[in-house]
Amino acid sequence: MAGEPQDDCLFCKIVAGHIPATIVRETDTTIAFRDINPQAPTHILVIPRVHYRDVAALAAGAPQIAADVLRETQAVADEEKLDSYRVVFNTGTGAGQTVWHAHGHVLGGRGLEWPPG
Ligand code: AMP
Ligand code: ZN
Repeated sequence: MAGEPQDDCLFCKIVAGHIPATIVRETDTTIAFRDINPQAPTHILVIPRVHYRDVAALAAGAPQIAADVLRETQAVADEEKLDSYRVVFNTGTGAGQTVWHAHGHVLGGRGLEWPPG
């Protein structure tokens, strides 16, 4: 069922506390933790506690929680004292999505090229 934890999902395991993560913020509906393979001095993932395969499915199925995720990206940037940063939701294999639990990357702490690769 939409939103239910998935046994084979890495980020559901982090939500459940079965896999460790360096958590920087938590709310009732979201968790933010450091990416294990950082691509910038600050690289934090913001995820909903509920399982949706990507941000589009989250926005369609639980729009209030999608808004919570967006609000948390700003909170993370504030905590990290980033005045400029980028929020990325890789969606689909061709865009580099490898974990099928919606997540936003918050990237900052260095110059970020535009357009991205
Ligand atoms: P994406 O490629 O957009 O699906 O992003 C998945 C991200 O999850 C990648 O940047 C990985 O480095 C990151 N990642 C994978 N496993 C872990 C983990 N155990 N803890 C933190 N980040 C992870
Ligand atoms: Zn999941």
